[in-house]
Amino acid sequence: GALLGKEAAMFLPSGTMCNVIAILTHCRSGEEVIAHRTSHILTSEGGAHAAFSGVQILGLAGERGQVTAEAGRAAMRPRARYAPAQRLLEVEQTANIGGGTVWPLAQLEEVAAVAHGEGWATHMDGARLMNAVVASGVTAKEMAASFDSAWIDFTKGLGAPLGAVLAGSAAFIAEAWRWKQRLGGGMRQAGICAAACNYALDHHVGRLVDDHRNAKILARGLRQLPGVAVEEPETNLVFFDPAGAGLTAHELIQKLRLQGVHLSLLGARVRACTHLDVTEAMIEEALAGIRRELNGR
Ligand SMILES: *Cc1c(COP(=O)(O)O)cnc(C)c1O
Repeated sequence: GALLGKEAAMFLPSGTMCNVIAILTHCRSGEEVIAHRTSHILTSEGGAHAAFSGVQILGLAGERGQVTAEAGRAAMRPRARYAPAQRLLEVEQTANIGGGTVWPLAQLEEVAAVAHGEGWATHMDGARLMNAVVASGVTAKEMAASFDSAWIDFTKGLGAPLGAVLAGSAAFIAEAWRWKQRLGGGMRQAGICAAACNYALDHHVGRLVDDHRNAKILARGLRQLPGVAVEEPETNLVFFDPAGAGLTAHELIQKLRLQGVHLSLLGARVRACTHLDVTEAMIEEALAGIRRELNGR
């Protein structure tokens, strides 16, 4: 709660459950959530919000996974009986599929102001919020300030085995507790799990700069490979497309897996993720493997 500058918070097993419970608490079925079209809630949660809340999600376009205040305004529907009632604006800090990009504080404040002006609530998916904090020097509290609810994950770059925390007003969290209980998120094991998360907050936030540096090293190495299109990383995610070098993202990932280098496929792009189990030496190894596959294609 204090980290995110909110009155109250609850411990949950996963980030997905934070999004599910937040949307269940903010919205009623048939209402609309406004988010970037690549957002995790839209692309990567198995249709959870259609299944549980019965909301529809309006996916907006925008550079690098972020939406502007103008895009938010343009998304507003007339208050007519034909139109779904719009209830919630959601943002992702950092924007995962957007490239692990960091929303500037001013842009977060602007889109939240547009939403609040229209009577919508605001929610921040902060799966990698601490990466954004370390990369920008803006505090988590400042970033979450214009959002009615926000959460952070302890199992991404922070490296804990389990856990996420959803924060908001006391009234919001009290209501959210009903959903937590109903979904089986009330855990007798919460204490021991939360202890690992506390450890991560104490020891694994400062070191995120190492992940960001490794991401830059990887991007620099990839850029030296002819035909590979590389997006400049802002945090710990490196997106690239090797198609110009003669292998599709899918083919390259398959080949690298056999060498013990694990990369993800996101659409036609490869996503590499640097984290506390990846050393600079391993980055060099991964680069050597990628070079080998592209030369030997
Ligand atoms: C990983 C992720 C989630 C879901 O978190 P889990 O803890 O894996 O359930 C939500 N949003 C974003 C942006 C993520 O990257």
